Amino acid sequence: MPNSSPRPSFFRRATVALVHWFDADFAPGGAEKIRAAPDKVDWVRVIPFVILHAGCLGVIWVGWSPVAVAAAVAFYFARMFAVTGIYHRYFSHKTYTTSRPGQFLLALWGGTTVQRGPLWWAYHHRHHHQHSDDAEDAHSPHVHGFWWSHIGWITSRKNFPTDYSKVRDLARFPELVWLNRFDTAVPILTGFAVWGLGWLLEVYAPGLGTTRWQMLTWGFFISTTALFHGTSTINSLAHLMGRRRFQTGDDSRNSFILALVTLGEGWHNNHHRYMSATRNGFYWWEIDPTYYGLKLLARTGLIWGLKPVPQSVLDEGHEAEHAATVIAAQKAAHAHREYSYATLKRVVPTAAAMAVATASAAQVTLPQKAGHPALHRDGTELAHGMTPPAQVTVAEVPKPSPR
Ligand SMILES: [Zn+2]
Ligand SMILES: [Zn+2]
Repeated sequence: MPNSSPRPSFFRRATVALVHWFDADFAPGGAEKIRAAPDKVDWVRVIPFVILHAGCLGVIWVGWSPVAVAAAVAFYFARMFAVTGIYHRYFSHKTYTTSRPGQFLLALWGGTTVQRGPLWWAYHHRHHHQHSDDAEDAHSPHVHGFWWSHIGWITSRKNFPTDYSKVRDLARFPELVWLNRFDTAVPILTGFAVWGLGWLLEVYAPGLGTTRWQMLTWGFFISTTALFHGTSTINSLAHLMGRRRFQTGDDSRNSFILALVTLGEGWHNNHHRYMSATRNGFYWWEIDPTYYGLKLLARTGLIWGLKPVPQSVLDEGHEAEHAATVIAAQKAAHAHREYSYATLKRVVPTAAAMAVATASAAQVTLPQKAGHPALHRDGTELAHGMTPPAQVTVAEVPKPSPR
């Protein structure tokens, strides 16, 4: 008697997963059904992803050369720019404008990152902004844990299909839908191109000691794997480490280190506060190489209409920073009650008065999510009332006496 169970056999599921390697939109039972299922790792589907990591081990056999290592670094940053400046700041948020051919070129560049198609990327990212750090968020470290947010979520069967209804503005371009559906095409071509470059070096510049397999290992496997993990820090670490300037209703954070790794995406709390700006580093001291690159690209005429950060958001940030400074002073005062705060009052009585006034203004609290675990809490959070101030409250600050 045939098996009448509604659950497809392993063989059938594995076959579907195999077809998925080449046609990401293949979904015989309907993509909605797959997306509605609970999280479950699809082991066959993730084999290419495992191969990507395993390819790094090729270094044992091919060794290294300065050119191969330099290529790995260069390709990492050229493609990190594509992740942040194109998949994120263009396809996900439309923070600037381009022509239709320009958009296609950008999508091709984005495809070399091996982070699937532009519509899949944008769909998931927009969903993240809608549900950041709540139960629906596919990659919140607070809901699912660090490793799931960093790498696990992309291995889950339910997260593979693209919900085209959530990216209608992009789905009306058939060329983008094609790239999204056959999302291994550009990565495979990229791999061949890097290998071919190594072959050219091997034949025409043998003195460099670089081989085609070295280039494939360093320029493609190692560089792409590093690129994946660099990008993933924004899903995992950027919601765990760093400072919170703005109260955003999630646990996004600003981190200088992550900004270096990701060419400016580390200013993630800024970005969650105002996602429509082209820049993530809101102030001149917040390094944002992606933004600088996009400004250069705008000079070529390929893109235009970069969107600024509204002055009101910049002012809000300044006020929050000021309030955080006051909280820091309060903490210091309580730590060394005998002289620190008294000294502060003697030296800058006016500043203390202004600080108290600003701190009181910053006490306005917005709706917040339940307490999240975090690596540390800082003065900005206290200033916003994001955590109950355990030892220090603004009310405890002595009012400056009039003289
Ligand atoms: Zn986020
Ligand atoms: Zn975003």
